[in-house]
Amino acid sequence: MTQTTFLELAKVCEKLTKTTKTLDKTNIVSNFLNKLDKNEISPAIFLIIGQIFSETDPRTLDINWKSLEPVLKSLKQKTLFQEKLTITSVYKIFSKIALISGKGSQQKKKDILISLFSQASSLERKFLIRNIFGEMRHGVKEGVMIKAISEASGIDYSIIKRAYMINGNIGEIGKIAIGDGEENIKKISIRLFQPIKPMLGEITEDLNDAFNKHGKKIALEYKYDGVRVQIHKSGNVVKIFSRQLKDITSNFPELVKKLMDNIKDDSLIIEGELIAIDFNGRPLPFQDLMHRFKRIYDIEKVKESIPVKLLLFDVILHKGESLLNISYQKRWEKLVKIAENLDLAKRIITENIAEANNFYKNAISEGHEGVMIKSLTSSYHPGERKNDWLKLKSEIRLDLVILAADWGSGRRHKWLSNYHLAVIDENEEFQVIGKTFKGFKDVEFENITKELLKIKINENKFTVFVEPKIVVEVAFNEIQKSPQYKSGYALRFARIKRIRNDKSPYDATNINEIKFIYKKQFEKKGKLEI
Ligand code: ATP
Repeated sequence: MTQTTFLELAKVCEKLTKTTKTLDKTNIVSNFLNKLDKNEISPAIFLIIGQIFSETDPRTLDINWKSLEPVLKSLKQKTLFQEKLTITSVYKIFSKIALISGKGSQQKKKDILISLFSQASSLERKFLIRNIFGEMRHGVKEGVMIKAISEASGIDYSIIKRAYMINGNIGEIGKIAIGDGEENIKKISIRLFQPIKPMLGEITEDLNDAFNKHGKKIALEYKYDGVRVQIHKSGNVVKIFSRQLKDITSNFPELVKKLMDNIKDDSLIIEGELIAIDFNGRPLPFQDLMHRFKRIYDIEKVKESIPVKLLLFDVILHKGESLLNISYQKRWEKLVKIAENLDLAKRIITENIAEANNFYKNAISEGHEGVMIKSLTSSYHPGERKNDWLKLKSEIRLDLVILAADWGSGRRHKWLSNYHLAVIDENEEFQVIGKTFKGFKDVEFENITKELLKIKINENKFTVFVEPKIVVEVAFNEIQKSPQYKSGYALRFARIKRIRNDKSPYDATNINEIKFIYKKQFEKKGKLEI
């Protein structure tokens, strides 16, 4: 079998930039995937979406603009064309780069890049660079890719999507679906130590809406302001995964011990929210919890100074059996038995709106974010944001991605201090919705300037453009329609509240949520407070 060239893949990427229609994009990708040899499908999928490695894969390319810039400058315009680059050869080269670490690694990476780029035509170079920065700018990320895999394999979209939410490796899903067929895709099920994408909730504006959506009886749980964790246990091994499916076990040794000591049942996956607490047990701000993620070298010390508390709220695998299709109420009953010596999220079931409102008010006054309202009969939908789970908070905030930042003036001239903030649209592209320089203290300006410069992809005299990596939580007074931004909306009085290190850019607020909030403003005569 002849190998498919990387040039063909680059041409497909170029073609994708020429259309804005999702349907056309899906067709282009699906036709291409169908032409490939089975062993090319997975690398091609990653190279098209510009992600290289799956989310659960700890490898990264770790190439910064500082290393790449001299490579590009040193290149002769002419391509050497000694050997044609193929999809698999490019993927192997990227995998090799990811293995290089330690002293002198940037130089070694540079050498490999020089040889790679000198083999590449200008079109190939364009998409190699975009792959390195994970920003393909053609509108095909996981969402469209799932549609394309469905079309190429003839397997129903919902089956592919669910398999992906459970397995987390889009390349493997494509290979199995297109290469092995529906029966094999259906066999993909929840497995220990392979984290699944968590179920999410929709915003609700009030408790009446919750009763309308969930019926006479509703279940409310405190919504804690921490990070979501998924805990896998088998025998004497416990692993803790973050919302981004990263293994964070080593940061929380005391939690692992507590779980081992208190859970008897085995082959188990449970979920909860991890919060930082003070010595009186009161919740600490989110930033304090973030220290537990950063200080990997000094765990014993921070373990003492920033204690954490785990509040469990779900079980999705028990004694090796998947509970995804079992109702929330039944899963909760199981969780109560499994975790009888551990803390569960505070919860009530009620038919009474006054009682529900009281519970919500208590959550807020105890320093929590609000409540989650969960349909008693709902099953667990990995990775989906459905109205089976609703979130009610005292203030709606947005999670936005920084795409660029302007240099400040006067006292702020050394800092990147005006941030271009983006939502994610239906095509999984980032669209600016506003700019702000409000919210940070001096030290935070200084830190974020350093972080932004590390992920710079371009700049002019006033502005530095960056890879879409940093998510910030933003408060605002109003959302307005605006022709000024491509998103079609603009924020009034946006101010940054905190950096959301726990969220990936693809977890950012999406345009549909903006439309929803925009509409609700009018019903509430411009008031966003619930
Ligand atoms: P947010 O930014 O408001 O935390 P999100 O986008 O992370 O929202 P949502 O589905 O919108 O996710 O809200 C649910 C999140 O709230 C969960 O991901 C989890 O981290 C957190 N959470 C806190 N308490 C609970 C709870 N009792 N049940 C479910 N999720 C909870």
